[in-house]
Amino acid sequence: MLTILANAKINLYLEIVGDRPDGFHELVMVMQSVALCDRITLTPLNTPNTRIECDHPQVPTDASNLAYKAVTLVQKTFPNRTNQFGGVEIHIEKKIPVGAGLAGGSSNAAATLLGLNMLWNLGLTRLELQELGAQLGSDIPFCFVGGCAIATGRGEEVASISHTPKLTVVLAKYSSLSVSTPWAYKTYRQRFEQTYQPIGDRATLEERQARIRSSTMVKALRDLNPPTIGNYLHNDLEKVVLPAHPKVAQLKETMTAAAVGQGGLGTMMSGSGPTVFTLCELPEQAEAIAQTIRQQISDLDLQLFVAPFTAYGLRKED
Ligand code: ATP
Repeated sequence: MLTILANAKINLYLEIVGDRPDGFHELVMVMQSVALCDRITLTPLNTPNTRIECDHPQVPTDASNLAYKAVTLVQKTFPNRTNQFGGVEIHIEKKIPVGAGLAGGSSNAAATLLGLNMLWNLGLTRLELQELGAQLGSDIPFCFVGGCAIATGRGEEVASISHTPKLTVVLAKYSSLSVSTPWAYKTYRQRFEQTYQPIGDRATLEERQARIRSSTMVKALRDLNPPTIGNYLHNDLEKVVLPAHPKVAQLKETMTAAAVGQGGLGTMMSGSGPTVFTLCELPEQAEAIAQTIRQQISDLDLQLFVAPFTAYGLRKED
């Protein structure tokens, strides 16, 4: 039996560069792990079954669970190991809000792949785990790298950005509100396709990616410059999610106002939302901002979390 702690991520930067021939979008993202984690416990079974246990009502426990899909992928890729070791039970203790733009499902799939690599002695390197994870979802490879990283392609090409800034984030999400990631990208395409510049050939694309690698945001992250990081937060998906969900737009306004005078560096939606976050240098500032938001929005459906940035996406529990 072994337990992996799987951290959530936020997007500090998300730019949709254009459509890809494979139907996905070409993206440039800056991702950051935060210390809000699910606990994934893997227990070997004597039978060849896969069993998922999770008491969160929004998380499926059938074959549609991403952790289940991770087991199936490993079984398909390494049939001999499966015959040798049998099945596995995966218990998910859910802390990361579901359908939140925080890579909840992706982090669980990554934790399962890492756990099986240990449990079944697969001997996979981190890069091989990333490649396996990319078959299940574009955000999964980042979870193996963790910390602060640039993700390009459809999100699966991940490169670390030096050190993780010492920042803390306030995360806010209406519990009953979820945004489907495919819906967000599809809607963005319908509304903004005409504004894309052509992706062009590989050399042009690499040049555009290089421009982002040397952008003010990435430089601020390398220089560990919190005010500039806060000023250059960017997420293209806000353009479709906020108009479709006025409650989320209102939440962002409330958080932006709460941040003023309390040390907030910037406020933005993460990924395809609907989680909105505010960056702070100090945990006390984040706590104060969270308290102000709670006073201004009495809706009990609103979940608030305060979490520091962390340098890793996955960690084996001692
Ligand atoms: P991402 O940021 O990776 O795009 P997300 O944070 O927006 O994802 P998830 O929490 O992964 O969203 O949930 C998306 C959907 O996936 C949910 O509707 C849920 O039913 C389903 N799902 C499948 N497996 C899991 C899992 N292990 N944890 C959470 N949701 C899961």
